Amino acid sequence: MSVLRVVLGDQLSRDVAALRGLDVAHDVVLMAEVMAECTYAPHHPKKIVLVLSAMRHFAAALRARGVAVRYVRLDDPDNTQTLGGEVRRAAAALRPARVVATAAGEWRVLEEMRSWPDAEIRDDERFCAPPGFFAKWAGAKGAGRMEFFYRAMRRHHNVLMEGDAPVGGRWNFDVENRKKLPATVAVPEVAGFAPDAVTRDVLALVAGRFVAHYGSVDGFDYPVTAAQARAGFRDFLETRLARFGDWQDAMAADAPYLFHARVSAPLNLGLLNPLELCRAAEAAYREGAAPLNAVEGFIRQILGWREYMRGMYWLHMPDYAAKNALGAQRGLPELYWTGQTKMRCMAQVIGQTMRYAYAHHIQRLMVTGNFALLAGLAPDEVDQWYLAVYADAYEWVEMPNTRGMALYADGGIVGSKPYAASGAYINRMSDYCKGCYYDVRQATGARACPFNALYWDFIARHLTLFEHNPRMAMPVRAWRNMTREKAEQLRQRAGFLLHQIEQDAEI
Ligand code: FAD
Ligand code: SF4
Repeated sequence: MSVLRVVLGDQLSRDVAALRGLDVAHDVVLMAEVMAECTYAPHHPKKIVLVLSAMRHFAAALRARGVAVRYVRLDDPDNTQTLGGEVRRAAAALRPARVVATAAGEWRVLEEMRSWPDAEIRDDERFCAPPGFFAKWAGAKGAGRMEFFYRAMRRHHNVLMEGDAPVGGRWNFDVENRKKLPATVAVPEVAGFAPDAVTRDVLALVAGRFVAHYGSVDGFDYPVTAAQARAGFRDFLETRLARFGDWQDAMAADAPYLFHARVSAPLNLGLLNPLELCRAAEAAYREGAAPLNAVEGFIRQILGWREYMRGMYWLHMPDYAAKNALGAQRGLPELYWTGQTKMRCMAQVIGQTMRYAYAHHIQRLMVTGNFALLAGLAPDEVDQWYLAVYADAYEWVEMPNTRGMALYADGGIVGSKPYAASGAYINRMSDYCKGCYYDVRQATGARACPFNALYWDFIARHLTLFEHNPRMAMPVRAWRNMTREKAEQLRQRAGFLLHQIEQDAEI
């Protein structure tokens, strides 16, 4: 043989760099299911099923094209259970002239790859920003706000542009995308994909092995092939895109997906191409099938946020993983793993996460993330939770969202201010507060919404830091203008709640 081509579990794209120049007659593609990758975080079993099943389908599609695939299953007795071990074992058995791989998405794996024998590691070109684009844009300071990066990407790819100007005369329609969902609006079902024989094999393999992990494989319906992923995306275009914008920030009990695309998991595996999704959404606008606020909002998530987060991750790793600008030290309370809490919003989001390995952005940011921020939970533990519980979780996108956007642990690299909010925000954007044990209008007292006192305590704890941030001027001023008596009551209530959190007592 001449070349051993390594394809990782989240590199399942036909055009992935490692397969460029593939010689079907002489090359071998290596794909390996290894325990090291299934357990470096206690991943949701649905995520493990998704990755392994998608890998097996991808290998089958390669074989159907006549490609030789060395596929190592998780339960293969000779499996060394690490990627490096499998590359070395394959190299010893096949004696290739060289090894070719695509750069891993995560720092940890790329570091390991660099120790592989005689490996050529190619840039991953499956993103909208070409290699080097982000670092050049961020410049020597390694900084810059997402909004400006997003505009540069729109220009670069000529997406939603009329010449050099944005379609509709504005770059951003965010202000139109913050509506509360009226109770009368029917939420469409999302397309699900029944497990085929390959997935059923994987379900049996995973169900018995990862019982200590959060969640179960029951009800698995993620797309596991590129064709299914495209069908799932078409379903979004047809049934949800038009209303994606209006209710982008809304949350509703027992409605996990609302009008969101549910594409992050297959997208991060490589089953979908990000630029193609943006172009398809733009086509829907140009054909009159969806309004501009919806389409621009959707494109901003992919062409803007997703690319920006990846850029920031690679620019600031490995230091980023140690950032803790607010000195948050509290351990993650057990309720994150059980969903057992009287706070209805938290119970809902954690419960649906356990069930579907999914929560949409505002649920992750303004419920579980906001609580972790206000309660001063340690970023390492919060990171581990987000990495474990979502089907779409990979460190390159999870960490800047968690440590940066949700926890402000990076001190403002990703966001210009902490996304801190009291219960009023959650009440405005959801129906969670109706029927909650707590009263969202109260800040003190035994039945007062915990988010309220925790919010003010958070402002008070970090007053000296926030005083220097003009975007925090309002809450800082409000705290300063509060009567001493009120401030003391709030801090007492927060002190009680924080004690309960530390003791893992019911809250
Ligand atoms: P939609 O709302 O329909 O958006 C479309 C696509 O835009 C998403 O599929 C995703 O690819 C992209 N996108 C949207 N927002 C972001 C964002 N902030 N960063 C990057 N891409 C974005 N996304 C992940 O893919 N993996 C993660 O591990 C992850 N962890 C997160 C942790 C926290 C604390 C927060 C606040 C957000 C996180 N996100 C993560 C971003 C976002 O929540 C998910 O991408 C989104 O909820 C996926 O659902 P969807 O496909 O229905 O998205
Ligand atoms: Fe959450 Fe507070 Fe509303 Fe209860 S009252 S659902 S804890 S925001």
